Amino acid sequence: MRQLFALAPGQLEWRENAEPKLLAPTDALVRPIAVSVCDADVLLLQGKLPPREPFCFGHEFVADIVTAGGDVVGFRPGDRVVVSFLIACGTCKRCRQGYPAACLSVPPKSAYGFGIFGDWGGAACDLIRVPYATTMMALLPLGVSAIEAASAGDNLTDAFRCVAEGLEEEPGAPVLIVAGGGNLPSISLYAAALARALGSEQVDYIDSDPSRLEIAQALGANAIEAKNPPKRHGSYWVTVDSSCQPSGEWLATALNSTAPYGRCTSCGIYHGPAPVPLGAMYRQGVRFTIGWANIQALMPKVLDLLSRRKIRLDEIHTVAPWGDAIEALRDPPVKLILARDEVRT
Ligand SMILES: [Zn+2]
Ligand SMILES: [Zn+2]
Repeated sequence: MRQLFALAPGQLEWRENAEPKLLAPTDALVRPIAVSVCDADVLLLQGKLPPREPFCFGHEFVADIVTAGGDVVGFRPGDRVVVSFLIACGTCKRCRQGYPAACLSVPPKSAYGFGIFGDWGGAACDLIRVPYATTMMALLPLGVSAIEAASAGDNLTDAFRCVAEGLEEEPGAPVLIVAGGGNLPSISLYAAALARALGSEQVDYIDSDPSRLEIAQALGANAIEAKNPPKRHGSYWVTVDSSCQPSGEWLATALNSTAPYGRCTSCGIYHGPAPVPLGAMYRQGVRFTIGWANIQALMPKVLDLLSRRKIRLDEIHTVAPWGDAIEALRDPPVKLILARDEVRT
């Protein structure tokens, strides 16, 4: 079968490899039909993340089930599913608590398509093994396209966790999204769309890039152009740091703009220390969350929003043919989705 390999920053290659097999009755084998490119993938291709050995690319995907092991419950061959990028068992203590990102049954940070968190394979291929398939997969709801849901296994659900809990606590609350220099463009814009869909009456979106600001405006957010991070921008019950800038300056904008006892969530990928305004956080009692989103626990809620037509993602997505992956990834748009012919309409 064919697999797309990431060799080094900016270097991708299709390779011919053996197909995976079922290793346990709880496994399924699935054929990816739409793979969306994670914001972290783009950083890697741009050389902004630490280099790694060649690995099979892709970890956000929708797939068709080819084979389901005897202990896979609720799915059949032919079902179209969204698969979580992070690998978790669904039954250990942490999974049952709602923290599959801390699953105790697999090595820490087990995930598809990174090459450094275990040999789980990548989604840009013809067939991939899904362990713990009953919990790793969710049926694509009727009426939702594979393209709309392509990112639900990672970035879209990551954006959801950034805004959902705060808006549940205070319906309609104002939300500030600090996209900063745009290192995580799709999560930032997904967060804007989701905040509006979840009822926020005021979504302020700060970014430096006019084209992303235009998309944010189309999604119903107030687009605020800023080339440099303001120390503070108002006071919001819900703030999101999606800047992913190692200087920590945009992160500080989000933290300093969080209302007393409000929530600030960072989906940033930080590899080293970054300064944090701890004094302001203490005075404000900021509730700060960072780390991988607990995908399996939240994905059904995101799919429910998609099926109720609550979110519009067309402005964010660019679809390219599966076979054009290498060319399309040379200069990736805000959110690239690679789709097989049968799902491109
Ligand atoms: Zn990702
Ligand atoms: Zn687990």
